[in-house]
Amino acid sequence: MWTLVLNSGSSSFKFALIDPASGKTWLSGLAERLGVEAASVRLDSDGKRQTHSLNGGSYAEAMRLVLAELDALGLRQDVRAVGHRVVHGGSRFSAPAPITPEVLEAIRDCVPLAPLHNPANIAGIEAAMNAFPGLPQVAVFDTAFHQTMPEIAYRYAVPEEWFRQHGVRRYGFHGISHAFVAGEAARVLGRPLAELNLITAHLGNGCSVCAVSGGRSVDSSMGLTPLEGLVMGTRSGNVDPGLHDYLARVSGLTLTQITAALNRESGLLALSGLTNDMRELEEATARGHVGAKLAVGIFVYRLAQGIAAMAVALGRVDGLVFTGGIGENSATVRAATMARLPFLGFKLDESANAAAARGQGGPISAPDSLPALVVNTNEEWMIARETAGILALTPR
Ligand code: AMP
Repeated sequence: MWTLVLNSGSSSFKFALIDPASGKTWLSGLAERLGVEAASVRLDSDGKRQTHSLNGGSYAEAMRLVLAELDALGLRQDVRAVGHRVVHGGSRFSAPAPITPEVLEAIRDCVPLAPLHNPANIAGIEAAMNAFPGLPQVAVFDTAFHQTMPEIAYRYAVPEEWFRQHGVRRYGFHGISHAFVAGEAARVLGRPLAELNLITAHLGNGCSVCAVSGGRSVDSSMGLTPLEGLVMGTRSGNVDPGLHDYLARVSGLTLTQITAALNRESGLLALSGLTNDMRELEEATARGHVGAKLAVGIFVYRLAQGIAAMAVALGRVDGLVFTGGIGENSATVRAATMARLPFLGFKLDESANAAAARGQGGPISAPDSLPALVVNTNEEWMIARETAGILALTPR
């Protein structure tokens, strides 16, 4: 059974046709800038890349192009299910869900919690339902993995009515990635996941740390929205909750403008005054750029604090996992973070860390350290596995 995995954004979608058992990808690609003149679809299969321009093409047109390619490769009849990444499942979903009208409605109910993401996810689901009528469609939620967080971790100290009536609590995100890398780390460490207390650090454009005990999330740095926690590419992470009121009064900015700036004009970009891209920041730091150095320094400081917070959630720590574009590729960020963590029992092996920077993954800790390792995340494979898994459990 092959699964078509869709990760839909507001004007783009990523797709991959994956064998859930092996993770082998047969066809993958990216449709982007949909709805505008520069719309295009990139298709990668068998080491070959084609790019089609779609000139203002819609979601549905891009989907038709993917279908045509599946036909050309003789693969369409082998697609047994479509797995969709859905960002916010609220408190309702603690596992993937085969999509029914009720499930779609529940995803719609979560739109106020993820106004940028859930509408795009719904558009992707609807386009795929039209393109593949009769095929099972499954929603795999970024929040579901964190539904095992205990109340002590997920409640904010705010009026109870906000929690009861408006769902104001911590949800956590990047769950698909945290779950995948925790499983892979257990495999690399040669120990059952059920016995391990792991801290996983997903560091990409968005960043979060997670405390994973026995394969279950018990805390995460992200909260009600993916804005809480660590410093990210363009997101501020934690700020004083009094900031909005103060800034609105002194600057005249509206709540919407402040929230937009905290999401899109903050983080590494704001601190460096240069870019949100960690690779460029490392190059700029090497050239002596003061803002870049400060941005990386604060990023690492806050990351180490986040890791320490996850150690509190776990009580005992058996390992630390780095993943995401920065976690997998930046030896500098990993080294600087580990340098702040000897009190937790972590010590870096510099040559292993440098080797892991070449995309290999693997352990980066010294022999007398708690294990720290790099694991390349594969959210598409995890979505394919979860989709296949839930369909096997669901009678049809
Ligand atoms: P992601 O969202 O997981 O694709 O991660 C994007 C982030 O990873 C960006 O900040 C990139 O600059 C960063 N990144 C990718 N490759 C490298 C690299 N070789 N060195 C440092 N950062 C990298």
